[in-house]
Amino acid sequence: MAQLVTRFAPSPNGYLHLGHAFSALTGFHAARAAGGRFLLRIEDIDTGRARPEFEQAIYDDLAWLGIEWDQPVRRQSDHFDDYRRAIDALTERGLTYPCFCTRKDVMAAGAQMGPDGPVYPGTCKHLSEQERQDRAGRGDAFALRLDVEKAVQISGPLTWQEQDEGQVQADPMALGDVVLARKDIPTSYHVAVVVDDALQGVNLVTRGRDLYFATPVHRLLQVLWDLPEPAY
Ligand code: GLU
Repeated sequence: MAQLVTRFAPSPNGYLHLGHAFSALTGFHAARAAGGRFLLRIEDIDTGRARPEFEQAIYDDLAWLGIEWDQPVRRQSDHFDDYRRAIDALTERGLTYPCFCTRKDVMAAGAQMGPDGPVYPGTCKHLSEQERQDRAGRGDAFALRLDVEKAVQISGPLTWQEQDEGQVQADPMALGDVVLARKDIPTSYHVAVVVDDALQGVNLVTRGRDLYFATPVHRLLQVLWDLPEPAY
């Protein structure tokens, strides 16, 4: 059996709450009990919202909780190039498309509500190559989305291992064509978290239940990038 590696990956966009403390303690104790490693990762890709005082508060609160983490701490804002490369690899395989829509456009197009808010109705998926070039050439900002339908054809049916539930069927289509690179930031949560969990050798992901919906997308990305599958 490989050594257990867990992590706590907060975003320094605010102060930690009790759920964070529970999540951090869960990962920390799991690693401790197994003689494994516990990592801390600062998920500060949202550079407009991340603040140094919130990052410092994370260190202080974890220390107060008696939690120790392996060094070095990985700060995602130092690794945008890693995420860009991973996204480029999908673009080269024809698995992404530029999306020029605003939030308002998405709602106006009659988006259905999914587990993580409105599901993108695919408006920009159907733009011609010429339209894409024209709009990008005009300087219209665009995000890059994953063509999930195409990606699922490559991955085939997916499952994940949920420690308390066993094998769970993953339906990555439920979130629609998720954003891989935002208009303002060259990555997204899904990309950064999957790249980093693999790069750091995390093999048990412990996190809030609010992110349960995201795991199918993470499994899909792991298969597309040929990355190992952690347990959750
Ligand atoms: N950065 C995320 C948050 O603060 C957690 C990501 C994860 O654990 O996968 O909610």
